[in-house]
Amino acid sequence: MNIQSFYPPKRTLMGPGPSDVYPSVLQALSRPTLGHLDPLFIGMMDEVKILLQYAFQTANPMTSAISAPGSAGMEACFTNLVERGDKVIVCSNGVFGGRMQENVERCGGEAVMVYDDWGKPVDPQKVEDALQQHPDAKILAFVHAETSTGALSDAKTLCELAQKHDCLTIVDAVTSLAGVPLYVDDWGIDAIYSGSQKCLSCVPGLSPVSFSNKAVDKITSRGLRVQSWFLDQTLIMSYWSGTAKRSYHHTAPVNALYALHESLVLLQNETLENTWKRHQDCHEILRDGLEHLGLQYVVEKPYRLPQLNSVYVPEGIDDAQVRSRLLNEYNLEIGGGLGDLAGRAWRIGLMGAAATKTNVEFCLDSLTDVLKT
Ligand SMILES: *Cc1c(COP(=O)(O)O)cnc(C)c1O
Repeated sequence: MNIQSFYPPKRTLMGPGPSDVYPSVLQALSRPTLGHLDPLFIGMMDEVKILLQYAFQTANPMTSAISAPGSAGMEACFTNLVERGDKVIVCSNGVFGGRMQENVERCGGEAVMVYDDWGKPVDPQKVEDALQQHPDAKILAFVHAETSTGALSDAKTLCELAQKHDCLTIVDAVTSLAGVPLYVDDWGIDAIYSGSQKCLSCVPGLSPVSFSNKAVDKITSRGLRVQSWFLDQTLIMSYWSGTAKRSYHHTAPVNALYALHESLVLLQNETLENTWKRHQDCHEILRDGLEHLGLQYVVEKPYRLPQLNSVYVPEGIDDAQVRSRLLNEYNLEIGGGLGDLAGRAWRIGLMGAAATKTNVEFCLDSLTDVLKT
């Protein structure tokens, strides 16, 4: 056997994630590994927490990054907050709402589903109706930015409804964090999870999470311990908390956390407001170009995510062939459709480092070429 080292080509990643990683983030990844209890490393983790609090716009002390991808952040929120028998209102308008339902059921909870069509945002009126019909519901769960369709839901309004009915909220912000405005404290979000590889443009494999004090109260007053030892936030925080003595829980992905730190430093330097504006500006140029090519958006204008542009594959065009030509001839990755939209839509991501005018032009030029021939 003589397998050689692996050298990937340099692609431009404009799909639903992972997004292009900033060069300085890749450099941070290759710095010397420290012990996971080394005081210098712990100091860096404290900074990651502060930077994440900025990214989430929260003062929540229980803010950290789960050592696993966004799906683990999702599990962390549900497994800590949903107790056996709890009724949870789950909004589903794409792939990820369906996964929330699975999570609730696997935790022994009862999911009350509120469905909206793929490509539509969550309808607050349906949520209000469900909350009224189920006064015993404990939690409202929804996806802020549905990556499978490119639809943005009104998180602020949905959280207000939950509070009015005395429910906690679990919000999926995997694609929304750093791409569109998000204010965890102002909106009163109780548990939120994201991913490192979307608008933060870090390498995949980490999931920023944050829990409000109300969420912490529910976690600490549980009747039974959290079923998952690895994701039990009360244990995780003994490793992530700055004040109490730090104890070994698991070996942190040390170098991956250097990378997250670097991507968050870049976010801090650019500022959230400028980052949101950059995503929006690039989206508008891309949208004009795509519409010029005759492509139609899946989502109506007011609900479109700047960082995830879903357009229908034109009649008579082979979806898979176009994407494979873009990949092989242009080193450009765009996403195909998921679920109901498989084979019928392309998902063009403008996430983090990928949201540049150069990329937008490159994507439009490449797509124009491929559609012509
Ligand atoms: C990507 C994504 C996830 C899952 O994240 P992974 O890092 O792939 O586990 C969850 N929710 C949404 C909305 C996503 O876009």
